[in-house]
Amino acid sequence: MKVDTNTRFEDYPFIVPTQKRLENKLAGFIQELKECGSARTAKLVIKHYNNYMEEISNQFNVIYVLYSIDTTNKAYKKAMEKMDELSPIVSNYSNEFTKILVKARYRKDLELEYGKFLFKQYDNALKTFDEKIIPDLIQENKLTSRYDEIMGGAQIKFRGEVLNLTQLGKYTQDIDRETRKEAAKAMDKWLSEHDQELGDLYGQLVQVRTEIAKKLGFKSFTPLAYLRLGRTDYDPKMVKGYRDQITASVTPLTTKLYKQQAKRLGIKHPQYYDYNLMFTSGNPLPIGNKDVLVKAAKEMYEDMGKETNVFFNHMLDCHLMDLEAKPGKAPGGYCTYFPLYKTPFVFSNFNGTQADVNVLTHEFGHGLQMYLSADIKVPEYRDPTMETAEIHSMSMEFFSWPYMEKFFGDQAEKYRYCHLVDAIEFLPYGISVDEFQHWVYDHPKATHEERCQIWREIELKNCPHKVYDDTPTLEKGRWWLRQSHIFTSPFYYIDYTLAQVVAFQFLIESRKNHAKAWKKYIKLCKSGGKYPYTEMLRKNGLRVPFEEGNVEKVIKPLEKILKAFDTEKM
Ligand SMILES: [Zn+2]
Repeated sequence: MKVDTNTRFEDYPFIVPTQKRLENKLAGFIQELKECGSARTAKLVIKHYNNYMEEISNQFNVIYVLYSIDTTNKAYKKAMEKMDELSPIVSNYSNEFTKILVKARYRKDLELEYGKFLFKQYDNALKTFDEKIIPDLIQENKLTSRYDEIMGGAQIKFRGEVLNLTQLGKYTQDIDRETRKEAAKAMDKWLSEHDQELGDLYGQLVQVRTEIAKKLGFKSFTPLAYLRLGRTDYDPKMVKGYRDQITASVTPLTTKLYKQQAKRLGIKHPQYYDYNLMFTSGNPLPIGNKDVLVKAAKEMYEDMGKETNVFFNHMLDCHLMDLEAKPGKAPGGYCTYFPLYKTPFVFSNFNGTQADVNVLTHEFGHGLQMYLSADIKVPEYRDPTMETAEIHSMSMEFFSWPYMEKFFGDQAEKYRYCHLVDAIEFLPYGISVDEFQHWVYDHPKATHEERCQIWREIELKNCPHKVYDDTPTLEKGRWWLRQSHIFTSPFYYIDYTLAQVVAFQFLIESRKNHAKAWKKYIKLCKSGGKYPYTEMLRKNGLRVPFEEGNVEKVIKPLEKILKAFDTEKM
């Protein structure tokens, strides 16, 4: 199907695929592929199959975007339900298709054409699935949905109001210390009331994941989780070495930063909630509403480089963003992709905080990569794995630094300082979440109490500033119960830290030689997901965080950048 890539989003056709046509088509491709005797004929089937999959993916994503913009629309809701029904069917067929390719006599010839990495990905994907685990996967899904339900449904009484966790979270960042303390205590009480339920739920998740791993022939869930995340070039041992580097090189720095912060705030015995506030003057706020910020972003991207200029104006001209919070809109923000139109779409809920600016830098960083990878022929090579994908977005946050006056006015310097400090302080926390999960799946029979004990030990090692005198539940090692990834996306958290360490390299390099750093970044974006993480970094002249000493080499120059900030004036 040929389309005009300059079509406006509102003119995209809204098509709900029917099961019959979909199954006929996919079964047809599988039959054709089975009959192929050579790579030459198979290549043609693969081409047609990929084209059809792009059409389906495009239809699915249009439905998804329309629905998230208006969740009250009945037609969109019905289409979403249809999609949920069809998705597993599509996965099943694509699994079938891959199986034939992997076992084909002419596989070597296909590898020459498409690259060995694609087939490695196929091999791994096949190892993570078997029909006999379907009931367990359904169970895993049910349990993770239950977690979202419990957390989303929290109703906490606070100063005469009933709040959910996000609403209460705002008060834990309040300028007034008493408010922060009271909110933290309310949170702690809610957690203690749900401790048993959440602990049991996690126990069941660990059990079912371990069960799935055993059925697929793995010793524990950990290696399976690595494969699920598409990690083909690093293992738990390398990750441990990397975590140790963070503990050794970053924790001492963050401890220093937290001390400076407490001094700034004038607090003698700081508690964990005090660190939510960077300055007594509050957090930097953007200078205007959506229109002001989008105009600023347009100016920024036009100036930044020719690629971003073309990209951002395309997004504007074709109405490929829906940014403002509106009634009926789904919460959150994301960047998705329409393969037929070769274009991304950015969705968010602006709320007047600095998170709005983050959408315009972070999500559009993802978007730029998708836009620049659109011409990669093998569709699988357009999508990087998560630890690589976050490099594009997090680095864009730093490439946007010189333009922050447009968004924050005279608070731009404060924004840059907070941004950098937050990013550094995230690392020891991020690796804690990871270390904890490795322990959990190595000890699948541990009790809830044992898990909590381990969490607290890990926390004290990496994040010693976490003081919980007023919050006894957290003191007993319960913080992790609030970290959704631990429940819903196992082992996917370290990815953010792995991307951050690379994004820092772009910050450092861009201050030394902007043109060179920018060229490198664009090249990286254009590479999409052609290589696994470590190879991608090496090919683009970036330090691989797993190599001993590399974390230190990235962190040292940041200390210098930090020192140059005049925090007295903020
Ligand atoms: Zn992201």
